[in-house]
Amino acid sequence: MKLLIIEDEPKTGDYLRQGLAEAGFVVDLARSGPDGLHWAQTGEYDLLVLDVMLPGLDGWEILSRLRGAGHALPILMLTARDDVADRVRGLELGADDYLVKPFAFSELLARIRSLLRRGKAKEPEQLVVADLELDLLRRRATRAGQRIDLTAKEFALLALFLRRPGEVLSRALIASQVWDMNFDSDTNVVDVAVKRLRAKVDDPFSERLIHTVRGMGYVMERRPS
Ligand code: CA
Repeated sequence: MKLLIIEDEPKTGDYLRQGLAEAGFVVDLARSGPDGLHWAQTGEYDLLVLDVMLPGLDGWEILSRLRGAGHALPILMLTARDDVADRVRGLELGADDYLVKPFAFSELLARIRSLLRRGKAKEPEQLVVADLELDLLRRRATRAGQRIDLTAKEFALLALFLRRPGEVLSRALIASQVWDMNFDSDTNVVDVAVKRLRAKVDDPFSERLIHTVRGMGYVMERRPS
């Protein structure tokens, strides 16, 4: 089992890495938000231990970007204060569990093991609209039973659409979720990427699922022809 810890505080990070390694896990430690997000997006982890207060990119932002891009890995948030609003926010954004600092290492370990057991029971996680299916664990897309090869960005973009079917997604939202870009960035990249994705998942098939909403963005849904 491979874990990623994102924690900027050197002592805490070292302590967690060592303790979890001794408990039998393979552990990577990212010491900043941007590094952590990048590793979480590109590495194959079974669970993420995510500190809330991080320089560069905080835990909330990392959580929302991972979930927005379709990453289903279990996430345990670490926070410095026991605040109900924080807890609700974390759960709404898709955190699986929550631990308030300072905590006993034995409790962290118990919660990690519990989440890993739960995660297994949930497999495989699939997103489906019509005959289009995305397997988040195997990172595989199929339509009408045919395998579709996607780049990492195309996969993230398709996962975003499939997680929010029927919802109009603005270019700015797509850019922020898939490319980590700000609202003011050149969102033409989104149009280009959607066009490429359509060429793979829509054009070869009779029913179109990705629709342009003029002046607003894109939506994935079934429409009567
Ligand atoms: Ca911190």
